[in-house]
Amino acid sequence: MSIQFCNQCGHSVQYQKPEGDDFLRAVCQKCFYVHYENPLIVNACIIEHQGRILLGKRTIEPRKNCWNVPAGFMENGESTRSGAIREVKEEVLADVKNITLFGVYNVIQRSQVHIYFRAELDSPDFGAGAETSEARFFLPEDIPWDNMAFPVSITALKRYIKEMKSGDFSIKEEDILIDYEMLRQFDR
Ligand SMILES: [Zn+2]
Repeated sequence: MSIQFCNQCGHSVQYQKPEGDDFLRAVCQKCFYVHYENPLIVNACIIEHQGRILLGKRTIEPRKNCWNVPAGFMENGESTRSGAIREVKEEVLADVKNITLFGVYNVIQRSQVHIYFRAELDSPDFGAGAETSEARFFLPEDIPWDNMAFPVSITALKRYIKEMKSGDFSIKEEDILIDYEMLRQFDR
């Protein structure tokens, strides 16, 4: 229930089910404009180079100073793949090749769909880019699991590491449950 005012006329809205609709919508009480709210797409990329995985340390909230794979919200005019490539370039200053779909993760509590790709480094260059204080390659056994930013990247990375050992990659679709109690403990 995040919308308070009509984006057409500025009048206040109320959440109600329009006729024939099964969902609550923010309906303007003056011009009756119906605001539809739908999930956002996040594109992410697991980058491997010589058995190591590239992570960036976040300089912004949420989960500031935690590590994550390059990831971010999709922009208008992008494909999921071009969005992932852009995030990689922005956050860890890297170019990638052999980009392949790895997983689709539904974060229903946040109304987000995360599209994970896997890729390889196309040139040896990388570094800390926007919203990133440090970029580093980690051996699987060195990944700082307790200091990772989001449950979705932990889930994706754990499967990636399992599959990279066998060399047999799959594409999976999963729902990610956010444990809010665990997140509160993180924040203490
Ligand atoms: Zn209105």
